[in-house]
Amino acid sequence: MDLEARGLGVISRMMGIDGISHLPVEQLPAIPLGLLRRNATRLHAVCRYRRGVRKKEGVAPSDVRCIDVHPYALTDEWSRYADFLLYHEYLHALGLSNHGREFRELESLWPDTEARSMGERFGMHLRERSAKWLWVCPSCGNRHPRARRGNGRYRCRDCKVVLEDHENT
Ligand SMILES: [Zn+2]
Ligand SMILES: [Zn+2]
Repeated sequence: MDLEARGLGVISRMMGIDGISHLPVEQLPAIPLGLLRRNATRLHAVCRYRRGVRKKEGVAPSDVRCIDVHPYALTDEWSRYADFLLYHEYLHALGLSNHGREFRELESLWPDTEARSMGERFGMHLRERSAKWLWVCPSCGNRHPRARRGNGRYRCRDCKVVLEDHENT
């Protein structure tokens, strides 16, 4: 499914959520969708406002330049998380510019509960992909993605065994 179609799918599901029916959901299809860089590891998606927009004065979908999503979230494995990311960014576009209590309440209305909790695993997935080294416990197999070698300085928290350096290929 391409990004445009995915966005429209999310918007149509949003039309069915009573708790956000007071927000201008029907204006969301006008927002262009794009991709973050492949090597982004901290950011999963972002809502970019137009130059000069002051969040304090209230934000509307027309103030949004684009929403960018991480390309790896668009694989089959993570597509449910991608939908949730779009929902999250669309809420920002609807005027909830920060992650305050109201934002979190509305965010929790997304019907796919499991997708809402996939962020941590997705972050690990990104760090594993980008890490040069994996510190591996030879006893339990736990893997810690890292930018540098451990050089025998670290032990597994659970097994107390020295972690081995494996090149991440
Ligand atoms: Zn956010
Ligand atoms: Zn271990």
